[in-house]
This record gives sequence, structure tokens and C-alpha cells, in this order.
Amino acid sequence: MKMTYILRIDGKIAKIPPKYNHIAQEIDQNQNKIISNQEIKDFLIKNDEVILKKSKRNNTILNENEIIKEFKQSLLDNLRKDFIRDYNQILESIKKLQEKYLDKVKVEYIGKTHEGRDIVAIKISTSNKEDKKSLLITGLHHAREWATAESALNIAEKLLEQYDTNQEVKNLLDNTVLHIIPVVNPDGYEYSLKTYSWWRKNRKPTEKAIGVDLNRNYYTDKNPELYRPANDKPDSTLDDYGASDNPYSDTYRGPYGKSENEIQAIEKYTQENKINAVIDLHSYGNMILFPWGHTHKPTQWDKIYREVAQEMSKKVMNKYRVMQSIELYPTTGCSTDYHHMEGRFSYTLEIGRSFFPKDKEELESIKNETLEMVKVFMSNLVSGKIPTQSYTITQA
Ligand SMILES: [Zn+2]
Repeated sequence: MKMTYILRIDGKIAKIPPKYNHIAQEIDQNQNKIISNQEIKDFLIKNDEVILKKSKRNNTILNENEIIKEFKQSLLDNLRKDFIRDYNQILESIKKLQEKYLDKVKVEYIGKTHEGRDIVAIKISTSNKEDKKSLLITGLHHAREWATAESALNIAEKLLEQYDTNQEVKNLLDNTVLHIIPVVNPDGYEYSLKTYSWWRKNRKPTEKAIGVDLNRNYYTDKNPELYRPANDKPDSTLDDYGASDNPYSDTYRGPYGKSENEIQAIEKYTQENKINAVIDLHSYGNMILFPWGHTHKPTQWDKIYREVAQEMSKKVMNKYRVMQSIELYPTTGCSTDYHHMEGRFSYTLEIGRSFFPKDKEELESIKNETLEMVKVFMSNLVSGKIPTQSYTITQA
């Protein structure tokens, strides 16, 4: 499929000739490099159709940095697609939900990122029933997994919208407390949306590089090997298992377990709110993954994990493959293992077929599928099939 890239300088829109598409595409699809300022400059000079500000006297480029910045932004605006809300728009949408459903929605600011953004949780509670089960849904640990934030937020928006008219939804909400953290990694999300689409980690500088893979940073004293196996030493990368000790790696586990603000915020929130079950949204691959990810041993809830996941997949025409997380690849320090270790029934959902949904229709269908699967999960939580009490955690 051919895309047309546009460029806006001095308020005028210029189409980028197809022969330069590869440069524009690099910003979105490069695996290892971002288009350099020099490349942009060369591009602007070579391309006659683009208006370049030059001084008449000595032919040097005026406002070079400004022009380059504008050029990059225009490419990104074009790539970003208006159906993906940026972090401010997401916060705006959350505020609107709270105002619209004053008696049902509470918004909590549960932590701050390195760059000072708020990490926000939406809490939905529609009845005063006692012994309600609590479910936490998290989205966007990984910066480039854009559909996960939209899908997490959509769950809140749709369920609240349907509450008064849909008996099934009313029943699910009345018997649960639903917590949603649509964006666990706001700094990374903004960076992925506006600077470098393929970014995955958060944006906190470490000694050598930038960013920690938040879904490799979970830690619990109940089993430190869930974060780092005993024979995986911090000072070597040759023995890396399930995560990397190389700060440049996309799966860098961080200097130590739960070193990151985002993960500390989630730990505190789940403990304070006595969360029973967790669904962590990732993309992509159409998979429902259950613990463990760090060992092939089955958990004590293996049978229930498989059955509930099959039922969820069935609801969406069996599009989702169900498997123990390690069957995909070994992971350490990930949310699903962590929450299970803490006694919470927990899945990772790999939603969609790409990091960047190509149009609104594709995003809508991912959002709908995710919502349908979450409803099946909630009904199993309400019915008691999903265990929430009297669990005995077996050491893995
Ligand atoms: Zn992910």
C-alpha cells in the first residue's frame, strides 16, 4: 500500500514525492536508526517542491533547526493518525468519564514518572454490595503498543455507557470493583507517539543508556528468582535469562527489581486496593498467556487458567491462542508472574496484529475483541470460577 507523506512549512502543505517515501517511512519503521538531521537537510535541499528558507545574501539556511524540527513533526503527525489519543488526550478523556459518571468513577493519581507525568488509575464501582471481587486492567507497559491504552480506556467507556441499558453489564459492574490503568508508561508512550515509534521501554536514564523494560522489572520477596534466576548474574549478559542486564537492550530489566516508579506505583496500588485478578494488555499476536513465564512448571491454577482463557477466545471466534507464557519465550520480572506470585489470577493478553493499527476500523475491532474477552473474564470472576481466596502459592 502506498502512503503519501505531507510536509507543512510556512502554513503551506507540500506532498513529498514518492521517491522520498523511504526517508519518511524510516521514522516510523526503522529498526535501528532514526532519520538524521543531515539526511533531512539534504532531503530538503534536493527537493525543489519544498520551500526552504534561505537568506538572499549568502545562501545559508535560516532557522535550520526549526525547519528540521518542523519537518520531523509534520512527518510524525502524518504517521500518527488522529484516532490514537496522545497522553494529554487520554487524561482529558478520563476527566470527562469522571465528570459524566460522578457516582461511579473515581480517578486516582498513583505515581509520577521520571519526566514528571502522572500515572493514573480509574476505579469503577457501581454498587455498595459487600465482598465484591476486584479486577485490575493495565495497558501500555511497552511504549509502542498503542492499541493497549486505547483498548483499556475503551473498557471503562463502553461498560459505563452500557450500564443502564444492558443487564449483563450491570450485573458485572455491580458485583466487581474495576480498576483500569490505561497507560503504565506515559513517558515512553509520548516518546513513541511523537519522536520514535518503535520505542519500548520507559524514559528514565540509567548509568549508560535510557530506559528500563517495565515488564521485566517486577519483583517480589516471595520469589526473587521470578525477577532474576540465581545463575543469572547482574554483571554478565552471557547468562541472561528472560530479560537482559544490558542497559542498551530493549528488554533491560533495570538495575534491580522494582527500581522503576511505574512498577512501585502498581505494587502499592494493587496492595492498597486488594486486587484479586489482573489482565495486562500488550500487543501484538492474538494470544492469551498465563503464568509462569519464567519456568515450565505449571501453576496450581493451570486448569482454570486454560479453561477461562479458552472461553474468552471462544467469544471472539477462537482467534486467540491460549498458552502458558513460557511457551512463547521465557520472561522474568513480568507482570503476570508477579501478580500470580502475589495470589492474583492473572493473564497477559497480546492484542491485535501489529504495534500500530493501520486505521480506525482495525483499532475498533481490537477494542471490541478486548472488551468481549474482558466481559467473559469478569463473569468468571463474579461466578467464583476464578479463584480469589484461600490460595496457597506454591514456590516455582
Ligand atoms: Zn508488551
